Amino acid sequence: MTMRCPRCRTALETSTSEGVRFERCTTCHGLALAVPVLRRFAPEQRVRDVWLDLPAAGPGGGCPSCSNAMREISVDCDGAKVAIDVCKACQLLWFDAKELEQFSPERQAPPPRTDRLSPKAAEAVAVAEIVAREQMQQDREDAAAIAAALWLASGSSFAALLVMKRLAEQRR
Ligand SMILES: [Zn+2]
Ligand SMILES: [Zn+2]
Repeated sequence: MTMRCPRCRTALETSTSEGVRFERCTTCHGLALAVPVLRRFAPEQRVRDVWLDLPAAGPGGGCPSCSNAMREISVDCDGAKVAIDVCKACQLLWFDAKELEQFSPERQAPPPRTDRLSPKAAEAVAVAEIVAREQMQQDREDAAAIAAALWLASGSSFAALLVMKRLAEQRR
């Protein structure tokens, strides 16, 4: 069954951004999010406040999932009142455009558009990761070589162990 926007009845589109799945309205830019999904990135206390305030909440828009009336909860977000619609049965929250950014400012997710890295940027990130990994491998080989040389020079495995220990600490 198609989920519909509680505000403008547009069919909602499923989007994913940084592993966060949500339904969005392409017309009015509202978003529907499941509670467990919201918990993954929104301030914990704020999510808890929503449930605490639920019994006193007034009627809201129709739930995109079950069509029953949601409850509208006014949440204090850094001094601003944000009215969020909640369907308790579906564990679903509805945020009008910009409300999610107010509710969860620490992580501005999910953004209305799913911008991805350009192929060039993705390649640069991949190359940087490979260089870092090779550098780490190189450091490890250097440490082993120094330790082996010292051991041979001093005839003391104890000195070599000390050097290896110090190198290991530096890498941390
Ligand atoms: Zn809409
Ligand atoms: Zn519902």
